[in-house]
Amino acid sequence: MIGKHKVFLLLGSNISVRMHYLSFAKEQIANRIGAVIALSSIWESEPWGFDAEMSFLNQVLVVETDLDPFAVLKIIQEIENLAGRKRNPEAGYISRTLDIDILFFDEEVFQNPKLTIPHPQIPNRRFTLLPLVEIDADFQHPQLKQSMRQLLNSCADTGNVELVKNQMCYEI
Ligand code: AMP
Repeated sequence: MIGKHKVFLLLGSNISVRMHYLSFAKEQIANRIGAVIALSSIWESEPWGFDAEMSFLNQVLVVETDLDPFAVLKIIQEIENLAGRKRNPEAGYISRTLDIDILFFDEEVFQNPKLTIPHPQIPNRRFTLLPLVEIDADFQHPQLKQSMRQLLNSCADTGNVELVKNQMCYEI
């Protein structure tokens, strides 16, 4: 069955088995949120706003879902916890390995203490805009009223972002 809503999700991981965490996230998302109808290539980006030893892998997915935005948020947090929090008997939890953000949810625009839709950092991050342009360069940001291509062209971010694995595809 095709879901009622279209949600864009950004995956990010910056630990050694990064590719594995992206695969794990895609499998969990397909099982628990809905059918993945498009996915960008995998992009490698410098850590943004902080120092980290390992660069990030990023990928954008478009998912058809019957869930509401808060149900999607709850599930992505569960998936992050499953993937990214390994119990260490001595030190408790160690740092997260998988980050999932909701970029767009249909044409919705709202802000609430738990969730801001569209994600407020979209226009500031090349590692988000490059995969979005791959998926649909003409897609209009519902609040800023600019296409993904226009947002990328005016983005001030100078961080290095490179194509790792060219596998952009639409599954519909
Ligand atoms: P982070 O640790 O960067 O993944 O941030 C997670 C927090 O951001 C969560 O507590 C969410 O409630 C909040 N949040 C607000 N807007 C969004 C969004 N569009 N996608 C994902 N998390 C969001």
